[in-house]
Amino acid sequence: MNVLIAGNNEYKCKMLPNMTSAVLPRFGKHYRKTWTDTPISLSKTFPHRNGVLKTFPEVLSYRMEKKINVAVIGGGVVGLSTALCIAESVPSSVGVTLISEKFSPETTSDGSGGFWEPHVLGNTPLHLQRQWSDSTFYHLLDLLRGESAGEIGVGLLSGFFWMDDYREDPYWSKTVFGFRHLSPQELSFYPKAKHGWFYTTIKVETSMYLRWLLKRFESRNGKVLKKKIKTLEELAYDFDVAVICTGLGARELVGDADVVPVRGQLIKAHAPWLKHFVVHCTKTSFNYMLPGLNEVKLGGTHQTGDWNTDVDLQDGKFIFKSCCELNPSLKHAEIKGQWAGLRPSRSAGIRLEKEEKVFDGKLLKIVYNYGHGGGGITTHWGCAKEAAKLVANSIGGTSVVSKL
Ligand SMILES: Cc1cc2nc3c(=O)[nH]c(=O)nc-3n(C[C@H](O)[C@H](O)[C@H](O)COP(=O)(O)OP(=O)(O)OC[C@H]3O[C@@H](n4cnc5c(N)ncnc54)[C@H](O)[C@@H]3O)c2cc1C
Repeated sequence: MNVLIAGNNEYKCKMLPNMTSAVLPRFGKHYRKTWTDTPISLSKTFPHRNGVLKTFPEVLSYRMEKKINVAVIGGGVVGLSTALCIAESVPSSVGVTLISEKFSPETTSDGSGGFWEPHVLGNTPLHLQRQWSDSTFYHLLDLLRGESAGEIGVGLLSGFFWMDDYREDPYWSKTVFGFRHLSPQELSFYPKAKHGWFYTTIKVETSMYLRWLLKRFESRNGKVLKKKIKTLEELAYDFDVAVICTGLGARELVGDADVVPVRGQLIKAHAPWLKHFVVHCTKTSFNYMLPGLNEVKLGGTHQTGDWNTDVDLQDGKFIFKSCCELNPSLKHAEIKGQWAGLRPSRSAGIRLEKEEKVFDGKLLKIVYNYGHGGGGITTHWGCAKEAAKLVANSIGGTSVVSKL
């Protein structure tokens, strides 16, 4: 432990961050000194020590309010928002480092529709879905009423949800604005629809939002590291707490076989005349058009267990044909590109809990926050706040006494 540095006829103590006291030998006695400055010259502190403290190290033990280091793994919307929530809620003596193999624009979160609506959340209990998605809705609402809305690309979006059968109103009908059933006249817009809803929700430009989250995290002294973490053990030596927000990567990193991809493909089209979202939901398909700042996103596909992130031409044809049925004017839209991504789905639902593991005698506190399926944008902030609470809980009152 690099605590003492011996100099010429003088010994200096190089304090570790937040080290508060050390026990030193002098003439057979132990001196306990509480230090506040670094480094401290022992020749001033112990004027008679010359010739006594000769060898390094002669500190018998030290006590420190150890600086707590938290690592958040994952640079998607879940990791970024979790890192920010932690940085905003812990004391400044806690270091927060965001580590990720990939950052924007290379994450699944970047490609997503950015649409607030609970979707593919596995068996996440309904009360938690509601808690986390509502919390995210109100957070996004605050952002869209704030000065940064243009930088984030967040705004309200109204539109139609058409179905080919009758369904109960969803639990989130009370969260979105102006939820109502479609009138017969509105239903006649799309002849295949038997039932439908109209409401106003929130849409965010995901890459812009990710950049904003990162900037804000860095402004809170958050550190950022681009790296793939291969095992949890490698975190145990540098960090006290690890928060796992690796989406699909959790399958490999924590060995959770319940995390599986649900592949989705999108077409990006230039169709600025489309101002409303449209979702068409049947027992076997879920197609949608989501107008955004620069393009309309057309979807979608849901292929469970498919790891292919290449664009599939057949899928593209299917999406385009289905969306043209919803709105024939799309035939004249310019196609700007296509994208395929993997929803980090988990049949048990979002994993948001804490655990402790010991690696080679070193305790690592772990908080898991992954498995957001098709609803990571919809639930991220509620989950991030919950994860930050678990972290605060894990580090509360930590004080370390070490012996060299
Ligand atoms: C076509 C499509 C449309 C979608 N539309 C919507 C929508 O409209 N609304 C909505 O709410 N959701 C939508 N989703 C779902 C949403 O995209 C995901 O739920 C969300 O992106 C998950 O975020 P995440 O941060 O967990 O994962 P990711 O964005 O995948 O981020 C995971 C991060 O972890 C990093 N990582 C993984 N393993 C490691 C490791 N071992 N070491 C270091 N770093 C690691 C990765 O590099 C990455 O940075 C859509 C998804 C798809 C595919």
